[in-house]
Amino acid sequence: MSVRPIVLYAESPEILRKKSQNVKGDAAEVAQLITDLKDTLLSHSDGIGLAAPQIGVNLRAIVVCLGFGPGEERKPPMAIINPVILEAGREQPDFDGCLSFPGLYGETIRPHFIRLSGMDESGRQLERTLEGFDAVVVHHEVDHLNGVLFIDRAADGGKLFTKAEARRA
Ligand code: ZN
Repeated sequence: MSVRPIVLYAESPEILRKKSQNVKGDAAEVAQLITDLKDTLLSHSDGIGLAAPQIGVNLRAIVVCLGFGPGEERKPPMAIINPVILEAGREQPDFDGCLSFPGLYGETIRPHFIRLSGMDESGRQLERTLEGFDAVVVHHEVDHLNGVLFIDRAADGGKLFTKAEARRA
């Protein structure tokens, strides 16, 4: 198990702004990367997604906990390698946050329907249709692979808020 430090936007924006390369490396290296991503994500109780650049690796791999809803237990993370969004729609505002911006939240406009292809962690080709908040989570992580951050998609003039402020609203 290796929990890696998360790259923070306030400290190293250039790492998070870099576009990531497709994963091609040998299976053992890819497996280690996925394990590190999952371990790091699970070490943060409020995380439901993590992209490789957030642990300083500019490769196209993400892990996401799908099926997340208010007051629900986080499901085990799944990995998607070299994800490609084939189709996206139903854009609307939703809650967003990022482990690279600890304690800050905002509302972003993202698709609530996506169809994507990629590879699972055993190297098998996958294609999935995701709806609702699952689509939001995956879209957020795929954005990271292109150097796009949630502050770029913020609705409401880009205003961010803390958790305490969100509860008062
Ligand atoms: Zn993020």
